[in-house]
Amino acid sequence: MANEVLLEVKDLHTSFNVPSGEVRSVNGVSFTLRRGEVLGIVGESGSGKSVTAYSIMQILEKPGRVIGGSIKFDGQELLGLPVKQLQKIRGKKISIIFQDAMSSLNPVWSIGDQLMEAVRIHEDAEVKAKRKARIKELKAEIKVKKANNEDYSELAKELDDKVNFARKRALEMLRLVGITDPEKRLKQYPFEHSGGMLQRSMIAMALINEPDLIIADEPTTALDVTIQAQILELLLDLQKRLNVGIIIITHDLGVVAQICHRVNVMYAGRVVETGTVDDIFYNPQHEYTKGLINSIPKADKRVDKLEPIPGNPVDVFTLPSGCSFAPRCKNCMKVCLKKFPQFIKVSEDHYTACFKYLEKLADEGKISEDELQKYLDSCQEGNKAFTRISRLDVEKAYQDYLAKKNNFNNDVKNNALSKEGLEIAKYRVNESRQEYYRARRDFAYAIKDRKAGGSERLSIDKNDVHKKIKHHKVEIDANALDMSKEEFNAYLDNLVISTTPVNPDASTEAVNQAKAELKEAKLDYLSKLKAPRKEKVEARYKIDIAKEHVVQAERDLYWFNYINKKLEATKKALTAIYENAHKRAEKAKGQGKE
Ligand code: SF4
Repeated sequence: MANEVLLEVKDLHTSFNVPSGEVRSVNGVSFTLRRGEVLGIVGESGSGKSVTAYSIMQILEKPGRVIGGSIKFDGQELLGLPVKQLQKIRGKKISIIFQDAMSSLNPVWSIGDQLMEAVRIHEDAEVKAKRKARIKELKAEIKVKKANNEDYSELAKELDDKVNFARKRALEMLRLVGITDPEKRLKQYPFEHSGGMLQRSMIAMALINEPDLIIADEPTTALDVTIQAQILELLLDLQKRLNVGIIIITHDLGVVAQICHRVNVMYAGRVVETGTVDDIFYNPQHEYTKGLINSIPKADKRVDKLEPIPGNPVDVFTLPSGCSFAPRCKNCMKVCLKKFPQFIKVSEDHYTACFKYLEKLADEGKISEDELQKYLDSCQEGNKAFTRISRLDVEKAYQDYLAKKNNFNNDVKNNALSKEGLEIAKYRVNESRQEYYRARRDFAYAIKDRKAGGSERLSIDKNDVHKKIKHHKVEIDANALDMSKEEFNAYLDNLVISTTPVNPDASTEAVNQAKAELKEAKLDYLSKLKAPRKEKVEARYKIDIAKEHVVQAERDLYWFNYINKKLEATKKALTAIYENAHKRAEKAKGQGKE
């Protein structure tokens, strides 16, 4: 295995903007892959393994998008690369093997046609031109030899190779992946192949252009055990013969043990532990990795029951604020609930992101107080994997959209006059156009979220109010006799019955003003019905913003009235409790004197 770095992923962030917010499926993933190395990415469903792979290939389905980081392949940055250049890399230098070959292959094309298409699409323009020119020459030479009655079998063979180059390559690949009778198989359609054969055909397609990197997304999950073993053996054999880098995405630790050199363990969109296969299997340091290893049956140990990881896989919408694994971790500590652990070096090439390992180092005196503090300071507070687009963000999203739109328009203007190369100018404009589109889409999502009545709209929890009122009643009931009238009045003056404060500026006037603004925006829109589309869209956005202001003003007024009414009623009830308690005490005192 060469030491040359083939793929370098740094701080990769991929998010999905769904109506209820932004989900960071991949949240700061970093790793490297060397040429000829096999890297396993393991983790439960939803841990971000496949999204990481699709981000590298840039084949994410909408609304997924890479929002940050860097992906360098063979020294070239892939993020931000124009689509045409990316297409030259995908399938040619980086290939992917999908989990379900049946649904990944085209059912109405024969296996041969699909393989040949992959060869033709990636044929270099220069090579293609040379090949065509040679075909022309060969045809002319054969014609002359035929006319002179000379032997032209050598030329005919070369001509056949040149004309049917894609077919020959397809046959060669089918043979390489161990498909028997490739001539016959080439003409068959996917439904005529067994699961194992289809997966082999997929591998043949992935390898047909001799890529430097193969990403195999659960390549053996849909196959039975014997075929699984054959496919893994085949991948390993190809890796050795062609020295390709392979990333295997799987949740099967057996597959990892069989063919990987290194392993990344992922949980909730992050790599939580990385190391060689031996590190991960014989010296796991993250609590999640330990759970994974303990859940595999051991040949040398007889157990009645396997030890599963407690709890359910993480739900990205309700991530805890510290370590994502905390709710399922039996060794969870206070710090795990608050801070997000960063990587700590265990040994060369072995890193873990777990506070338990840090504690172990501290107990063994292997880390100084200063280093410990420095590490803790480097861990951010809270988990930023999920951000809900709040109701108020509609306004923010709109302002962002306007700013990005201006940037884009300026870029178009400036670059039209730019002396820099046309390609660079195009690239820049394209970048700002992307940002502008993203901002426009975020704005649309924010409006959608508001329309769907996201929980932010009901920001005051009525149950919380009722609980607080009950708490005050119990408190006054218990302490009334110990409180002077002044103390009780001060208590009432500072009475709080909701965790979320209401807007003190809420009023009927504010609602009327917002409604007038909406009316004006609607009239403006009507006056622009025949204006250019851009102006009409702008006017439409203004109506959405004005509607948002009306909803906000009405909501604020509703909660303002609700809380004030409850506050008055609570003060009355508390006064009654206080006075009754004192009256009863007076009475009891009077009776005592008699
Ligand atoms: S950081 Fe804490 S909660 Fe997370 S896995 Fe380690 S010990 Fe468990």
